[in-house]
Amino acid sequence: MDLDDQKDETETVSCGNSKCTSKIVPGDDQNGNESSGTKKRKKRKSQKTKKRRELVSFSDLPDYMKDNEFVLNYYRADWSIRDAFFSVFSIHNESLNVWTHLLGFILFVGLTVANITHHDKFFPVDAKSPGNVTRWPFFVFLGGSMFCLLASSICHLFCCHSKELNVFLLRIDYTGITAMIITSFFPPIYYIFQCTPRWYFIYLAGITSMGIFTIITLFTPSLSSPKYRAFRALLFASMGLFGIVPAVHALVVNWGNPQRNVTLMYELAMAVFYLVGTGFYVGRVPERLKPGWFDLVGHSHQIFHVFVMLGALSHYAAALMFLDWRDHVGC
Ligand SMILES: [Zn+2]
Repeated sequence: MDLDDQKDETETVSCGNSKCTSKIVPGDDQNGNESSGTKKRKKRKSQKTKKRRELVSFSDLPDYMKDNEFVLNYYRADWSIRDAFFSVFSIHNESLNVWTHLLGFILFVGLTVANITHHDKFFPVDAKSPGNVTRWPFFVFLGGSMFCLLASSICHLFCCHSKELNVFLLRIDYTGITAMIITSFFPPIYYIFQCTPRWYFIYLAGITSMGIFTIITLFTPSLSSPKYRAFRALLFASMGLFGIVPAVHALVVNWGNPQRNVTLMYELAMAVFYLVGTGFYVGRVPERLKPGWFDLVGHSHQIFHVFVMLGALSHYAAALMFLDWRDHVGC
């Protein structure tokens, strides 16, 4: 039930320079003309709905929504849950932020289904023999990516409803990003160090602990403010950079592996995509250079989303190679 709908029977009317409210009671028509009264109410309601769905400029936003002063117009503010939901099909400055990750989510659902239908080796009996490698680390990564992309889409769609929901959804969004980073470590670390469980346990426990620390830190409401944008990016980037340690270790252990350069290239591509994307996120380029020009298409957050997708797809390709490699060599 939408709170805004409950308020529909109360209308704000002008009282000189101040505003006051008057109650509209169904069937309350002084001339006894119920149909004309109903019509008027319907007209007022439709005008009100129209007004309710009006897009506003940055200066008209409530404080909790003032995030990027270089995006000037086409904001939704204090919209009902229902209006925010249906705005997925309309044009505003969050449309592409929603769709870039919603389409990514659908793509990853498709990849997950395709992989499930082609394999039945989630927990094979003899996981260490060639051709029989376990799939669960791969699906952990797919699950983390889907959670991140869906959480991000939902956050961008509904963050315009209220301050409380905005704060809650931002926490879910940060949790999603952290989950995607942590789960991205599972396929490479597990498959590379599968024959020396001590190492995959140490590295996976390390990155998971960093992730939990990041989530707890970012749950502090003040750290969601625009002021701490760079700090948030630094936390996520440092989780990603943690990967350098197992990557160097893996290179030393597998120096003679013929697939070394290809997998390394995919993982390097992923790192570059994530870092460039983060650069756009922090720098707020290009809208900083021409405020108002990129409100609907081309502002930094949309570019950041596209780079996140590219990074995730590179990592997916690399994960498939690690899986295939371990499937062939066994332990
Ligand atoms: Zn986003």
